[in-house]
Amino acid sequence: MNQFVSVTEDILQKLVRIVGRRHVITSSSAEMEDYSHDEAPTALRHFPEVVVKPDTTEAISEVLRLANTAHIAVTPRGGGTGLSGGAVPLYGGIVLSLERLNRIQEIDEDNFVAVTQAGVLLQDLRREVERRGLYYPVYPGEGTAHIGGNVATNAGGMRAVTYGVTRNFVLGIEAVLASGQIIRSGGKFVKCSTAYDLAPLLIGSEGTLAVITEITLRLIAKLPAWHLLYIPFTSLHKAIEAVPRILKLNVPLVGLEFLEQDVVRIIEAYLERAIPYHENPAFLMAILEGRGEEDLNDAARSIAEVCIASGAEDVYIPMGARAKRDLFEVREKVYPALKSARPIEVLDVVVPRSRIADFVGEVKQLSAHYGIPVIASGHAGDGNVHLHVMGKGIDTIKWQTHLPDLLKDIYRAGVAMGGMISGEHGLGSEKKSYLPLAIPEEQIDLMKRMRQAFDPNGILNPRKVFPD
Ligand SMILES: Cc1cc2nc3c(=O)[nH]c(=O)nc-3n(C[C@H](O)[C@H](O)[C@H](O)COP(=O)(O)OP(=O)(O)OC[C@H]3O[C@@H](n4cnc5c(N)ncnc54)[C@H](O)[C@@H]3O)c2cc1C
Repeated sequence: MNQFVSVTEDILQKLVRIVGRRHVITSSSAEMEDYSHDEAPTALRHFPEVVVKPDTTEAISEVLRLANTAHIAVTPRGGGTGLSGGAVPLYGGIVLSLERLNRIQEIDEDNFVAVTQAGVLLQDLRREVERRGLYYPVYPGEGTAHIGGNVATNAGGMRAVTYGVTRNFVLGIEAVLASGQIIRSGGKFVKCSTAYDLAPLLIGSEGTLAVITEITLRLIAKLPAWHLLYIPFTSLHKAIEAVPRILKLNVPLVGLEFLEQDVVRIIEAYLERAIPYHENPAFLMAILEGRGEEDLNDAARSIAEVCIASGAEDVYIPMGARAKRDLFEVREKVYPALKSARPIEVLDVVVPRSRIADFVGEVKQLSAHYGIPVIASGHAGDGNVHLHVMGKGIDTIKWQTHLPDLLKDIYRAGVAMGGMISGEHGLGSEKKSYLPLAIPEEQIDLMKRMRQAFDPNGILNPRKVFPD
């Protein structure tokens, strides 16, 4: 039952007074469609009743106070690049877009810190930070995501082997509770043992606890050189088996990605160019960062030796900036390319790194059992396996009947190997029903009670994360 109230003309006028007419979008605008979906291939569209675009924390506080008093559902929205339906307004209500909160407040070069509003694009922050010779190394593939969205989903990406994920770079957060209360936790300091630290709780909360408005991020010094190795293998199993051997080398490896040939073929068609060694069934891509070419050449040699001993066909090292960029683009374009091939589902199960080969093997057996193709790529270096359940050519009735069972079996297999349902995309609306497969009921209840403490009326992003 919908416990929420619709947006009345009176509420609309109040919203206009808070953010200005130009920044309130209603159903008469063609722009509305953009706010009805994210990038999840399966999420159904839901239109909000109104989209508001405040540009200050105080205005966000006023909008929330109004919505909370009137019992209107509010869906916080960043760049809308999420892959699990998190920003889709299931109840209509208000979409609270953070897009105008887009100022980088400060880059403090002495303290290695950036203070940024939540709506700053990841690509803009990276550019600005690098212009100052510093580095924000977390690299989830989509640069148009907001920093606030990255924090709300605890985004990971391609350089987690050395640097970790968004969580590892957040020093402080300013956020607004559903009541309108503004809270601040953490700051420009490295250590803090002063009562409960609320910031880590908001990281990965997917808009269900508070609206994140400002983030203080740790930066590091930029290493001047990087290398890319592209390693074709004679089987996926051999490629994955090489991963722990590479990780043991103690080389400046920041990312280790894997791709199956089916994924590479789809990317080739999307980019309209041939990718080297495309006849091989599987590939690893190693990303190295270091102080200079010499260090990286040594590291590349060690990785090459291990890979050849593990069954690699060859080790391809692109020469020159252009060749490197072109090859890196192959990994960056996985999602846009797959989108054009219309997958049914995109899963991002995480397992202990040593279990990737077993996990992918079991997924392949399940795929054969259900007769639904599942192809794999992902962050081999951190155990985050991206599975693309492909729908092309599959009978609609067949996948409608079997898909939920296939997904359940895949998640069960991942959890049984010590993993989790989602490593970086979050649960949103699309994966929430599988949560009990991974987390005991009493623990889910504890989380729900925490949510209630933050948002007693449950207006923030309702029907997300927790099963209905
Ligand atoms: C091509 C492509 C490649 C991608 N590659 C990766 C990858 O490698 N790694 C990875 O982790 N992800 C990846 N993603 C997924 C996506 O970019 C991330 O999940 C990203 O963090 C979402 O940010 P966003 O600003 O677009 O958030 P949205 O999609 O707008 O929202 C995501 C969730 O966060 C909440 N939210 C957003 N902003 C706020 C805020 N300020 N306060 C409170 N809640 C908020 C929303 O309510 C929603 O629940 C990829 C997506 C695409 C399209």
